[in-house]
Amino acid sequence: MSVRRCSACGAAVQVPEGRRAMTCAFCDSALVDDEAQQAAPVDRVVPFTVPRERAAALLRGFLAGQWFAPESVRRAADPSALDDVLVPFWVYDAVARTTFSARVGIHWYRTETYTVTVNGKTETRTRQVQETEWFPLEGSHVRQWFDHLVSASRGLPEAEANALEPFDLGASLPYAPALVSGVAAEQPTIERDEAARVARQELADLEHKVIASTHLPGDRSSDLRTQTASELEPPRLVLLPVWIAAVQGPTGPLRLLVNGQTGEVVGRVPRSWWKIGGVAAAVLLVVLSVVLCFGVAR
Ligand SMILES: [Zn+2]
Repeated sequence: MSVRRCSACGAAVQVPEGRRAMTCAFCDSALVDDEAQQAAPVDRVVPFTVPRERAAALLRGFLAGQWFAPESVRRAADPSALDDVLVPFWVYDAVARTTFSARVGIHWYRTETYTVTVNGKTETRTRQVQETEWFPLEGSHVRQWFDHLVSASRGLPEAEANALEPFDLGASLPYAPALVSGVAAEQPTIERDEAARVARQELADLEHKVIASTHLPGDRSSDLRTQTASELEPPRLVLLPVWIAAVQGPTGPLRLLVNGQTGEVVGRVPRSWWKIGGVAAAVLLVVLSVVLCFGVAR
């Protein structure tokens, strides 16, 4: 096994024997040998359950809904354009403790009297008007989080990794060389310290959401402030299956991803201004011809 590093995005790929990848699966840039890299110890592996042809079909379905995608992007759905890569993730278990403050509002109704004039006579009527009484609230919250994933790969930014999730780690197997033979296995290029910072931030965001949606009484709330401290267990390193289609788009490299376990497709497809211009011109033509027809008929 040799490790090759991408000159552009920094991903490091463990290339299997007999399959010497020349370009980066993530960004299609050149790979260079990286002698210094030692293969990192992997705890568990989730094997591919979505085969190549199925992944290509899912990409075709995804692109079929993208009318304005440039034609060059459609090559990504060619089965031969897909790379199967086992992407490393750090997996965290944690206890998150949060203190929070907020204002909660409770509705009540007051009866209001008003007058209307009907057929010249003044009538007195009543109506219910909603009022809100606001109270300050403080509290604390503790929760255990399991299997929180953070990308360990420079090639796969955290936002894209989050979009690919969830993965079912219940289907993972203890690492064995046979599980990664013949597949490009990426090396972790994001260190634990950096990943721990990401995990803490994401857990704080999750805590904020949980408290906002389930822990505030009353009819309304505002000014929610949360402060979270997370105790992280030492992370485990898992390899997760991802199909990657990296193609050269009109304005540079772009890529689409398919979760190799669930079939979820992730990717932002640029729009072709030629196609949008074409449709706009066609609409204009139709409008013009309708206007002209009516003009002649009159
Ligand atoms: Zn790259």
